Amino acid sequence: MANNEDLFKQIISHAKEYGYIFPSSEIYDGLSAVYDYGQYGVELKNNIKQYWWKAMVQFHENIVGIDSAIFMHPTIWKASGHVDAFNDPLIDNKDSKKRYRADVLIEDHIQKIEDKINKEVEKAKKRFENFDEAMYRTTNARVMGYQQQIDDITARYADLMTRNDLAGLKALIEELGICCPISGTKNWTDVRQFNLMFSTQMGSVAEGADTIYLRPETAQGIFVNFLNVQKTGRMKIPFGIAQIGKAFRNEIVARQFIFRMREFEQMEMQFFVRPGEELKWFDYWKKERIAWHQSLGIAPENYRFHDHEKLAHYANAATDIEFKFPFGFKELEGIHSRTNYDLSRHEEFSGKKLRYFDPETNESYVPYVIETSIGVDRMFLAVFSDAYCEEKLEDGTVRVVLRLPAKLAPIKVAVLPLVKKDGMPEKAEELMQQLQPHFMCQCDMKDAIGRRYRRQDAIGTPFCVTIDSQTMEDDTVTIRERDTMQQYRVNINELVPALLQKLAK
Ligand code: ATP
Repeated sequence: MANNEDLFKQIISHAKEYGYIFPSSEIYDGLSAVYDYGQYGVELKNNIKQYWWKAMVQFHENIVGIDSAIFMHPTIWKASGHVDAFNDPLIDNKDSKKRYRADVLIEDHIQKIEDKINKEVEKAKKRFENFDEAMYRTTNARVMGYQQQIDDITARYADLMTRNDLAGLKALIEELGICCPISGTKNWTDVRQFNLMFSTQMGSVAEGADTIYLRPETAQGIFVNFLNVQKTGRMKIPFGIAQIGKAFRNEIVARQFIFRMREFEQMEMQFFVRPGEELKWFDYWKKERIAWHQSLGIAPENYRFHDHEKLAHYANAATDIEFKFPFGFKELEGIHSRTNYDLSRHEEFSGKKLRYFDPETNESYVPYVIETSIGVDRMFLAVFSDAYCEEKLEDGTVRVVLRLPAKLAPIKVAVLPLVKKDGMPEKAEELMQQLQPHFMCQCDMKDAIGRRYRRQDAIGTPFCVTIDSQTMEDDTVTIRERDTMQQYRVNINELVPALLQKLAK
């Protein structure tokens, strides 16, 4: 197997070659960090969204969904803190003219030291039998030295970020000797703040028109509708409001394919609880969300929690669910205990009460909130990169197969008549009509059957149904399973229940 960087490149080109993801505006040379989903990509994306919606809304009687507008009153973003504080520290290299996030430069530097530790550990693992990693990390002088460096940099960096000390960040970058990867020089500009919100004008006349923003998160649409939903839905605390929708961020460094985009989609849920009960619910949602991820059958070791040590001023607990992407463990989902910050701020800025009268305690209060927030596109990348597999077969050839969870696969069943004659195409058409009400399916008649199997493997179709001469005699077909390549015959009448049963697993 190729190294991780090569593997990631192969995943990106596979996504394009098989109609999953195209660079946006490609015939005009693309638009940075913006992507379009193709014919299979849109199916996988929709299936991910449905899978989330079902788990969050359909399976929780006390959670309902909404679909709020992307454009919102500009004061919302003042109240939420985004106008003043949704910034990243920006730095340019004067020689290459390339722009970087100062915090990311420092984090990458820390990662490089971490890589050195991992290399030492790997070497030692090969050298010593009964290797005890924990012991090695606390006794080997070189590893301890690296760890000390990481701890020192991390502590200084966290302090500078908390104090918003931009000059200090620049000084740290210089002190660590961080070079621009393009020019190789340390010729840096000062660090300055860069607001990530896209803005535009509302109204036909630019002068006097109000500046409005493309929402950088879907959550605020939920907060400002909190009372509408609570009252009209007669919701009782604890209850949640879920939403799936587009969000926009003018990311300074947008790389790693669909991991960091300027236009992306979020699946967010805000859960409103009684003050004082938020940490209990925070734990509840941590467990629920990791169970959701693991229900897809992806290896559990690909997920880990990363609890935030440094909390945003409005949060009293926060964790990320990180996923092992081809470029390492990175945030896939955030779970935050946001206290009553957002609703209180909206009360303050709108002058409207956003309170809940609790019939059980006879009190009126601003509820506390637990948020779960996951990017659809990041989830797509997690599922897609985990599914991509190059498998060496016994005959020496390599099979490229997308082992997507069957529930999420864009096409569930491919109908393949062995030849394009002897009544088989007509039989295939008949079968398609039987299958279409139940599954997304596809009929493929072109090329030899082996090539067609490979094409479906590369798309990730879990089941191929083959029509051959025996079908014409006894109405049986062959089911071929993507992962095992096993084949077995079933009667056409039993096909739909058999496939439904397999997909329900
Ligand atoms: P990061 O630290 O990676 O920038 P974040 O902490 O800013 O992410 P949140 O504001 O917590 O992210 O957003 C919630 C989720 O939305 C993230 O866990 C991620 O899945 C998704 N997300 C955020 N920014 C982007 C982006 N630019 N492109 C794609 N998905 C994103």
